[in-house]
Amino acid sequence: KETGVPMAGVPVHAAETYIARLVKRGYRVAVCEQMGDPAKAKGLVERSVVEIVTPGTAVSEALVPETANNYVAACRVSRDRVGLAAADVGTGEFLVEDIPVERFREEAARLAVAEWLLAEDENADTLGGLAPEPVRRPAWWFDEERGRRALQEHFRVQSLRGLGGEDLGPALGAGGALLDYLREVRGGGLSHLVRLRRLGSREHMILDAATRRNLELTEPLGPEEGGAALLDTLDRTVTRMGARRLRTWLLRPLLDRGRIEARLDAVEELVTRTEEGEALREVLRRFRDLERLLSRAACGKAGPRDILALGRGCLESPTLRERLAVFRADLLAKAAQAVPDLTGLGRTITEAIVEDPPPAAGDGTVFRPGWNGALDELRDRARHGRRWIASLQETERKATGIPSLKVGFNKVFGYYLEVTSAHVEKVPPHYIRKQTLTNAERYVTPELKEEEERILGAEERLKAMELDLFDALRRRVVEQAAAIQELAAIVGEADVFLSLAACARASRYARPEITEELVLHFHDGRHPVVERLLPHGDFVPNDLDLDARARQIAIITGPNMAGKSTFLRQAGLIAILAQMGSFVPAASARVGIVDRVFTRVGASDNIARGRSTFMMEMEETASILHGATDRSLVLLDEIGRGTSTYDGLSLAWAVTETLHDRPQGRPRTLFATHYHELTALGQRLPRVINLNVQVKEWNGKVIFLRKIVDGAADKSYGIHVAELAGLPPEVITRAKEVLTRLEEGRFARRAGGEDAPPRTQLTLFEPVGNELVEALRELHPERMTPLEALEWLTRWKERYGGKS
Ligand code: ADP
Ligand code: MG
Repeated sequence: KETGVPMAGVPVHAAETYIARLVKRGYRVAVCEQMGDPAKAKGLVERSVVEIVTPGTAVSEALVPETANNYVAACRVSRDRVGLAAADVGTGEFLVEDIPVERFREEAARLAVAEWLLAEDENADTLGGLAPEPVRRPAWWFDEERGRRALQEHFRVQSLRGLGGEDLGPALGAGGALLDYLREVRGGGLSHLVRLRRLGSREHMILDAATRRNLELTEPLGPEEGGAALLDTLDRTVTRMGARRLRTWLLRPLLDRGRIEARLDAVEELVTRTEEGEALREVLRRFRDLERLLSRAACGKAGPRDILALGRGCLESPTLRERLAVFRADLLAKAAQAVPDLTGLGRTITEAIVEDPPPAAGDGTVFRPGWNGALDELRDRARHGRRWIASLQETERKATGIPSLKVGFNKVFGYYLEVTSAHVEKVPPHYIRKQTLTNAERYVTPELKEEEERILGAEERLKAMELDLFDALRRRVVEQAAAIQELAAIVGEADVFLSLAACARASRYARPEITEELVLHFHDGRHPVVERLLPHGDFVPNDLDLDARARQIAIITGPNMAGKSTFLRQAGLIAILAQMGSFVPAASARVGIVDRVFTRVGASDNIARGRSTFMMEMEETASILHGATDRSLVLLDEIGRGTSTYDGLSLAWAVTETLHDRPQGRPRTLFATHYHELTALGQRLPRVINLNVQVKEWNGKVIFLRKIVDGAADKSYGIHVAELAGLPPEVITRAKEVLTRLEEGRFARRAGGEDAPPRTQLTLFEPVGNELVEALRELHPERMTPLEALEWLTRWKERYGGKS
């Protein structure tokens, strides 16, 4: 009342477009409809809000991406944990999990939440800020006990144990609040939210936002340059359910070896049994988007075409089961057994609704003739009346001898007989005059009025009855929500397996060996996306052999454009693909399970975003040094480019040393760098190896061989590349001079011969003592008591020498 609410009336047929436009701008739109029949209402027709459309709860096709989920999520912070509950109204998914605060942002980003719900007293800053701006509701909505009861009630269970939710804390509060909010926004229409699932953040490889972006998992970095994402390369699904699941699998690779192998078994069988696979794919194609159709039904938005599509899908359930049952792989065989038999519902629907129904019920043509006697009778009566009226014109013309007599209809008088002024003489006496026009008169007869009543009555009842029957059918669908979702899940999964198999066959991928050892091996590996963008056969396959015990860190040098970044990403993608259960682009591969992939991509390698600053670069590096474990895979594509050479080099050096010797974990690491100095680490540190991308010089030109070989790159090609790029000769000559001087200067400062470790760098990169030296300089022993001196010593001992 204080602020006023903007209102607008728009044509009904265009409403979706207008609403979508508003919601995309971040508005929440309340839709009002007239509740009574405007014909019967006195004064204002009663109106009420029938729907509230918000970004996270929308189901309209104009607002929701078809092949990705659309989540509304609530969260509640409790000490160091965030309770998260997320729902996708369009597919009926309801997820809950308690997540450590520091992992929250990552999970949130992975879900790509469209709308947030927070308690009034919650500080969004604890969560690192939330976008879009959260909706606020009272704190008591988020009470844990209340949430537990609300969830038990909604999901109709005695306890949450069966759903694997007995140990949840704040997530229960978030779940309860989310249910409240959905009820507020959607009215009812939540009956299809039947499956409560744990988000299970401990079951999946962690891929933070930067890594997902850098590895171009679902979005290319520079779409305008014709780039492509891994998902585009992989996606050969034939259903929406499959497309959504493939995306989810890609963003949540598994950690459990057994589960990964089970998926690989399914893919392998489909790779070899192409004929049976094709038969399966053929039946999948017959399924429309069951999840979205079901959700439309639950919200009362489904039309006859939607229900019929669902019904037809239900009828396919036995065929699906049959075609799945021929496979031996455990997941496929289990899926076959789990296919619910929905033929009953399917038959009910397809026997009721005509082959090609109208989009909405109410005009009397939705149901098949012969399906419902009472409905047929009403339809007959309406139709018969229409026919009687249609023949009336002829009968009356003959009876009165007026050739121009017409039968018409308007809203005020209903049916009438119209006679032009020239013939009014011939009008029989039982005609009752109703209206005079300029050159015609309109009449009715008692017989006509009687018939009219019968027709209109029949039509109205026909409409009401059809709507009732349709609604009943819709409710029968919703009663089977759980089974339909199960069917949808099986269709989606089968589709993903087929898609992975098709991709493996078409691009000659191999089944990876999955192991608990801390290795990452591949032979003749390729980058799945770059390979496809290049002309066939142009991609040069490469090998990698990392092992946390012996070959933990690979430093990769080589000129610009040699293929370093591609190689790094290729390694990450192979691990991700393997753990999602896919074959991998290599002749063979051994993947030791990776708990998390970290990436750090230098600003100049990230031109498309163009926003990377040195600060961001260091933040990313910090997160690696804090978070990496023995099981992690770290991909560093340049560190320290954003600052001066010595700064950058020092940081890169220190980071490498730390990763090599971290007691918290020594992750497998690939480090592409243009700092040649770093290759010295290959001699100093036992688990560091040098790799370089081979190039050849031929007739003064640099030829990229794209082959990764052992050893450090022996020469910087920067000046050469500059020459090729057409820099003036005098610049090139001068640059060569300067380079020689710099190199001489550096060698001069070195104490030993070529092979000795660079001493200057040794001190340069061991700054540990510096503060101590500073402190010593400041020290005045002559003014200290013996006790003070002892304390001073102890403090420094603790700092650098461990507890005494
Ligand atoms: P760098 O990081 O060393 O500068 P990139 O990895 O960005 O080089 O690769 C530069 C280009 O070289 C890529 O865009 C790609 O087209 C091509 N390329 C990279 N690796 C290969 C390969 N193994 N075989 C063929 N072409 C490759
Ligand atoms: Mg690069």
